[in-house]
Amino acid sequence: MKHRIVILGAGYAGASAAGRLARRLHADDVDVTLVNAEPDFVERVRMHQVATGQDLRHRPLRDLLAGTGATLRVARVTAVDVDRRTVALTGADGADELGYDTLVYALGSSLDDCGVPGVAEHAYDVASRPGALRLRERLGDLAPGRRVVVVGGGLTGIETASEIAEARGDLDVALAVRGGLGDWLSPAGRRHLRAAFGRLGVTVHEHADVERVGAGEVVTDTGTRIPSDVTVWTAGFTVHPTAAATALQVSERGRIVVDGSMRSVSHPDVYAVGDAALAHGPLSTPLRMSCASGIPMAWQAADSIVARLTGGKLPNMPLGYVHQCISLGRNDALIQLVTADDRAKPAAPGGRLAARYKELVCAGAAFVVAHPLTYPARRRRVVRQGAPLIPAG
Ligand SMILES: Cc1cc2nc3c(=O)[nH]c(=O)nc-3n(C[C@H](O)[C@H](O)[C@H](O)COP(=O)(O)OP(=O)(O)OC[C@H]3O[C@@H](n4cnc5c(N)ncnc54)[C@H](O)[C@@H]3O)c2cc1C
Repeated sequence: MKHRIVILGAGYAGASAAGRLARRLHADDVDVTLVNAEPDFVERVRMHQVATGQDLRHRPLRDLLAGTGATLRVARVTAVDVDRRTVALTGADGADELGYDTLVYALGSSLDDCGVPGVAEHAYDVASRPGALRLRERLGDLAPGRRVVVVGGGLTGIETASEIAEARGDLDVALAVRGGLGDWLSPAGRRHLRAAFGRLGVTVHEHADVERVGAGEVVTDTGTRIPSDVTVWTAGFTVHPTAAATALQVSERGRIVVDGSMRSVSHPDVYAVGDAALAHGPLSTPLRMSCASGIPMAWQAADSIVARLTGGKLPNMPLGYVHQCISLGRNDALIQLVTADDRAKPAAPGGRLAARYKELVCAGAAFVVAHPLTYPARRRRVVRQGAPLIPAG
């Protein structure tokens, strides 16, 4: 009987894992099935571009997997039973159950309203394609002079505020930040960011902890009311509740706790990658939710699974960071160089060249996900069938 590998989620992490596994294991020994709610790969790092009317290349998952031997199931995962080793699905053909011997969980993340009242009712988001398309429609209807408030001073908030301000110079765009603007960046990085926001006309509300979102305003913890015709919530991302509903060990925030090989610390036949997993990088700092972490995590998981099934050597790829690439519209960006554990170094080049570099990074990420056939094919034979023999730890 073939070893059944099921990968849940075809974002940056899941699709990378599927392609790599299918290339590295012999098709006579394994069935690799990729399950995703949507039929195509979505470049999530470009959702702020979608919101401002830019169209992305259509990337059907079926084309992406062509020639790899992996199978695509377009269905929504509704539950995982790690004791029975089954996944419950619902799709066009109704409800179904899929059994696995090895599971790779990569369902990503979604908007977190952080418990703030009014976000669900009044705010827009760029966390997913449906969210970005909804915002795109609203921005399209917005008359000149209207006010857009982006809440959240992280990378997504900065990129979103810049993109909207550049695409719609006729709108009044503001960013509400809990602390200081870009306070994790180096002084050079902060300078560049402030200059870019000045040029784009983005108003920054610093130390603005948003407590409530209303129909025409956001209200901070000090009672300051910031008028807003369109509020975009980027203040947090959360993982899907599916993992927390299983017997898997998860973090406080529901991410699956994994070891250095991306294997669940509680269930050796489950691996987790991307936003859905809590993995540690250099100095034991948790890897941040990012595509920059998700793809290497996927490679690590795939190579670890291959090693364990084929009796090979476990990979030991260090997972760390080099830079944070922040787009500031289409013509400017900031490349904040960082230590392997993601702390800002002094250098932070910005400008048009940085924008080109950032574009290259995004395009490169999509390319490696969308072209699994570029992975070297080492179709190793499986020597261990069924559940992995090596205990977690
Ligand atoms: C606007 C924006 C800009 C960003 N910019 C950057 C950046 O510049 N650099 C960077 O490193 N990171 C960036 N990120 C973060 C990055 O997009 C995520 O960290 C990354 O997408 C995580 O990859 P993933 O594969 O874990 O999850 P995702 O890419 O979210 O993929 C999850 C997949 O699972 C599927 N799925 C979810 N639930 C189910 C279900 N129940 N059943 C079936 N399928 C399901 C989804 O359809 C999706 O295909 C950005 C994020 C946003 C929103």
